[in-house]
Amino acid sequence: MTPVNTKSNPPGMLRLGLLAALLVLAFACKKDKAEPAEECGLWEYEGEYGPDHWGSLAPACQEYAFCGGSAQSPVDITGAAPDASLEALATNYGASSTHIVHNGHTLEFEVEEGSSALELDGEEYELLQFHFHAQSEHTIGGAAHHMEAHFVHANAATGDRAVIGVMFKDGAENAFLKPFMNHLPHHGESPYTSAASFNPVEVFPADRDYFTYPGSLTTPNCEENVTWFVLEHPVEASTTQILRFRDLMPKNYRPQADIGARQIRHYQD
Ligand SMILES: [Zn+2]
Repeated sequence: MTPVNTKSNPPGMLRLGLLAALLVLAFACKKDKAEPAEECGLWEYEGEYGPDHWGSLAPACQEYAFCGGSAQSPVDITGAAPDASLEALATNYGASSTHIVHNGHTLEFEVEEGSSALELDGEEYELLQFHFHAQSEHTIGGAAHHMEAHFVHANAATGDRAVIGVMFKDGAENAFLKPFMNHLPHHGESPYTSAASFNPVEVFPADRDYFTYPGSLTTPNCEENVTWFVLEHPVEASTTQILRFRDLMPKNYRPQADIGARQIRHYQD
């Protein structure tokens, strides 16, 4: 399957009209602390508030505070060094009721508080949610996958994060996703909520070898407090399932950052 970007730009006149409206708003509105200043815009994946501009907006706009940093994500995973001191991922995941949100950028499965956690260096990182990007944000040896799920964990004491990335390739229908396919909300629609439960560990492949490196959130504010674990082996989803996700969240991946001086380490069972 070839990645296709179906999003089209508004015609020039419409764009000029929007710009004029924004300028009027900028002068007419008092700045609201909860919203970015007008000149900072609302981040997107294309255009003047797209990823190419997040870093340069950072000095003036706190919403993009860390996007120009030197330890950003995603990256291309190449030249990882095997490290025998790494341990298997200590996930302690349990059942959660279902709450699926389309937040305008991604489809997010929120999990019940206290239901799942990852133990890392003796500290507990609670699983908050997992969400999807199409195509994948990380690449392995320069190759992207059709989708990547991010399992976002946070340490309640320090605020540090640990994110596990799971790649999806084209193949058999994905049994975990199957019951949700007809309930995935569009942007602007109400979340889907159900008492039916799932265990997020069912998304993971059987072989959980991983690559790990220090990085950032891949969306603004791009804070650099993330320990990344990108699973080496993809899981499968059907073409129909992948296209459905792509339809609901067209192009929601950030281009790769330079790895710089950071080391990528490889855990193999
Ligand atoms: Zn993500």
